[in-house]
Amino acid sequence: MKGPSVVIIGSGPGGFYAAGSISKKLNSDIDIIDRLPTPFGLIRGGVAPDHQTTKKISATYTRTAKKDQICFFGNIEIGKDISLEVLREIYDVVIIATGSELDNKLGIEGGDLKGVYGSAEFVGWYNGHPDYMDLNPNLDTKNVVVVGNGNVAIDIVRVLSKTFEEMSESDIPEYALNSINKSPIKNLYIVGRRGPVEAKFTNVELREMGNLKNCLPIVNNFDLPNKLEGDFSERDRRLIEKNLETLKSFSSIEKIKKGKKLNFVFFHKPIEIIGNEKVESIKLEKTKLEGSELKSTGEINEIECGLVITAIGYKPKNITGLKISDGVVENKNGKIDTGFYAVGWISRGPTGVIGTNKADGEQVADLISKEFKTQSKDGRKSLIEIIKSKNLTAISFEDWEKIDSYEKKNAKDPVPRKKILTIKEMLKICKI
Ligand code: NAP
Repeated sequence: MKGPSVVIIGSGPGGFYAAGSISKKLNSDIDIIDRLPTPFGLIRGGVAPDHQTTKKISATYTRTAKKDQICFFGNIEIGKDISLEVLREIYDVVIIATGSELDNKLGIEGGDLKGVYGSAEFVGWYNGHPDYMDLNPNLDTKNVVVVGNGNVAIDIVRVLSKTFEEMSESDIPEYALNSINKSPIKNLYIVGRRGPVEAKFTNVELREMGNLKNCLPIVNNFDLPNKLEGDFSERDRRLIEKNLETLKSFSSIEKIKKGKKLNFVFFHKPIEIIGNEKVESIKLEKTKLEGSELKSTGEINEIECGLVITAIGYKPKNITGLKISDGVVENKNGKIDTGFYAVGWISRGPTGVIGTNKADGEQVADLISKEFKTQSKDGRKSLIEIIKSKNLTAISFEDWEKIDSYEKKNAKDPVPRKKILTIKEMLKICKI
């Protein structure tokens, strides 16, 4: 007996873990739709190009994609090519897994100046994402300010700091590698509106900044507490203590000469970005914490810079038929409505590591297997008819594998792949 027909919109970690969990519980046909011809979402377009080990998780998703029940439809955009409403009419179960694609904005004067980028754009650019490959940021500046104290901010400063050799095993596109290499960047500033205790870096990522060939991390000892005070869970306390230890080691690091400096600027919030046609400096106001409350002090500092990148979190792109509030689709434990579910960042906000999505997938698989036993809508058959009738070009998983091998074949060892950058070229490789 066939289980309910299932469609998942979005082929990132959230989408793939959901497909994997459902396929273990139900004898369902499960279709995964993505607006790009390439699967794996943030694994390909978000995880930093020098963190290839993290990208290896795509082998697990590939095994899921190759299950008989599962079918990938790339290059189909829900909300544009086919509406969400139609999907809900033709499938028993619709799961939204489209993540949080849009940058949060600082909302300060000068925030729209040329030379100010959000991390989705900037990371997309150095990862060869088709939406951002033409961003062409001007890196002809000595000073760069990155706003935010999370792992995305750390990724950005690391990619801008590593040498050509340190990036040699990455899949960063040549245009980005050359542009970073040619740039005269000397000073990177990573700005947190709160302190080292509140910073959201994970320790492995933070520690890596102390081992770079040509970049010296600079921390002001005055920003570090002598003793960690406050109420923390055992786990949080351990994590914070590790970060403090790492930052302390940076503050006393031997100040040998390196080409670049990474300055940790804690307790400062951006209040204005200044420039005529493009960014020339950023004004920061010193802050202090009273309990957990962030207070302004009135003390202003200005950093001259030609590039500001904000890494202050993301929000979801809306699709007609979704109710987004507070940065997530309205849902209760993954359920939006009968037959309608959400997983990943769109369901709980842009937090956690890749593995966090696994629990989301298990949660909706449990709900679905309790609420639906058999198939009543023919799902895939209707989807294929719609794709044909609208003359859409769908990319299958086998098509993606052609792109994948082409990219790998065209890379010179030790570069793992030379990414294809345009959708047009991807379709050409698939001979569509
Ligand atoms: P994040 O960890 O939530 O960090 C966002 C940072 O932006 C925080 O420091 C936050 O400060 C700051 N911020 C927010 N609004 C601001 C404002 N208006 N002005 C100034 N600062 C502001 O988010 P993320 O770095 O985007 O990362 C997203 C998720 O992906 C995280 O769970 C992260 O761990 C994960 N990730 C993991 C890796 C990895 O494991 N290697 C790599 C990349 C991303 P407050 O704390 O004061 O709000």
